[in-house]
Amino acid sequence: MQDSVVMMKVDDFLNWGRKNSLWPMTFGLACCAIEMMATGGSKYDLERFGCGAFMATPRRADLMIVAGTVTLKMATRIKTLFEQMPEPRYVLSMGSCANKGGPYWQHGYHVLKGVDEVVPVDVYVPGCPPRPEALIEGIMTLQKKIANERMLRDKWVKHA
Ligand code: SF4
Repeated sequence: MQDSVVMMKVDDFLNWGRKNSLWPMTFGLACCAIEMMATGGSKYDLERFGCGAFMATPRRADLMIVAGTVTLKMATRIKTLFEQMPEPRYVLSMGSCANKGGPYWQHGYHVLKGVDEVVPVDVYVPGCPPRPEALIEGIMTLQKKIANERMLRDKWVKHA
């Protein structure tokens, strides 16, 4: 019991650090990516919220923001990039295209009907395109999720 309380405290501390130092991958697919870039710019200044320093390699990123239309050709690349990210890793689906195919939902033979068909999505941000405020809200939702994770404790319980 005492051990699990200690684990929870350590988890809380690690979560506090992880949620306030998210490193998204530099990765845009279509028009939604323009809003993502604006979110990282000086006006919206995403780094104020503990998320920034866009990484140019999946090896150093822990957040994939899927911003744009996911074509079938790109879907396999997205899966590969996701697998190259170290754990714990997160995926935020930004905009109608990434969420469900967007305007290509019905007749877009070349578009995936949701990026969650190839990678596990933690947060969906609606809109076409979502405004920077919506993306920031999505990132804050992810941060709340990370704050409640119990990675150490679950590992400890599994091996106890
Ligand atoms: Fe472009 Fe709209 Fe699709 Fe975003 S959701 S990539 S803005 S068409």
